[in-house]
Amino acid sequence: MPKSRSRLTIKKKSKKGRVALGREKNAPTAEEWAGMPQYYTFQVEDEDGMGHDFSVNDLARILPHKREVGDVIETHEYWVCKIVDVRARSDTDVWVSIEWFYSPQDAIELNKEFDPSHCGKYERLKSNHTDCVSSHCFDGLAPAKQYDETNLDQESIGGEEFYYRYTANISDKSIFPTPSASCVCDCLYNPSDVAPNSVMHLCPQPGCRKYYHRGCIASMSTKNPPERIHFLLTDPDTGASIQLPLIESASAEPAKKRRRASSHASVPNTTIPSPAAFRPLLAALPPVLVRAAAQPMVRGGVLGVAGNTAAVVAARRTVCAALRDGTFAEGWEKRMPEGWEQTMPEGWDAEDVLLVGGTAVGENGVKPEPGVKFELGVSVSAGGGKRKGAKGKRKTEADPMAVLQCPECGGPV
Ligand SMILES: [Zn+2]
Ligand SMILES: [Zn+2]
Repeated sequence: MPKSRSRLTIKKKSKKGRVALGREKNAPTAEEWAGMPQYYTFQVEDEDGMGHDFSVNDLARILPHKREVGDVIETHEYWVCKIVDVRARSDTDVWVSIEWFYSPQDAIELNKEFDPSHCGKYERLKSNHTDCVSSHCFDGLAPAKQYDETNLDQESIGGEEFYYRYTANISDKSIFPTPSASCVCDCLYNPSDVAPNSVMHLCPQPGCRKYYHRGCIASMSTKNPPERIHFLLTDPDTGASIQLPLIESASAEPAKKRRRASSHASVPNTTIPSPAAFRPLLAALPPVLVRAAAQPMVRGGVLGVAGNTAAVVAARRTVCAALRDGTFAEGWEKRMPEGWEQTMPEGWDAEDVLLVGGTAVGENGVKPEPGVKFELGVSVSAGGGKRKGAKGKRKTEADPMAVLQCPECGGPV
């Protein structure tokens, strides 16, 4: 397996004359590189003689400086690069043009204003810093996922997966996007901060689309705290309140009958209903789906870098569409992102989702029916002390499942 190598930090001005493309001994010069045959894939053998393929556009990890094969190396310590071009002098003398992914510490050497302390252990910054390294430096593939903090459909990022949310440009030393805080505390999001109060809750309202630290907004007092059902009555993409077709007849007739009627409705009634009007409709939907949709969207610490946002958004979209169109959300699982259950907080599928009909969500001042309470998805067996313990724990301040209030729009987060 590969030997370690020196790594360039920030590229200095080139000296005139024959300059090697990389810092390693024998690295080809630009002139030589131009005449070398080009390949798409190269192979590196490990200690057991197993071949591993590396191809153009793959993201790969490289042994850190002064580390040898056989050393104990934590995954997050590896260097990460993107393979751009592969050329060879011979079968055993293969050279690879790469672009480095900077560690947060590398980034501060480029741009002194960058604060690496808010970056996670597996975080890197994509850069346009090129280098030329021998194929012997390669240790394995290292898919680094792009993390777009504003994307509601962001794919999940595992606890030991590399990711990047910033791009470093070595020409003008800029870092894009500029790190910016979303919470009232003006602190940047640190995905590796495992403190329970550092978990961040998302307000999906288009006018907000911000994450807030649980600890920063948990104590903000409110007269009418939002409830779980309020998560379900707002379109997560548009922020609009859900409207029901044929709402007048909905509360009086069994769900099945109403749904048949509504499917033939040509002119939907656009009255904004009270939360209680949704009771028979929600009760007819798959309890697991309703539970997933009724979760707060949270990220950070044990909840993962990107948290459960994509899963909950997908569930809310499906619930909203089912309520709007009068369907039973058939085939809802297919509309959930792959592996979504792994992104949900521990115990989410064992809790009783109590949907209390309190205040109507949204505008228009619709008066709800007072004191309407109903439970959904109480199908999970009581499970004795374990479940009770979990429920008791939920009441603590650090409960990531508790519903909080957005400090800007007042909506549920
Ligand atoms: Zn905060
Ligand atoms: Zn908000």
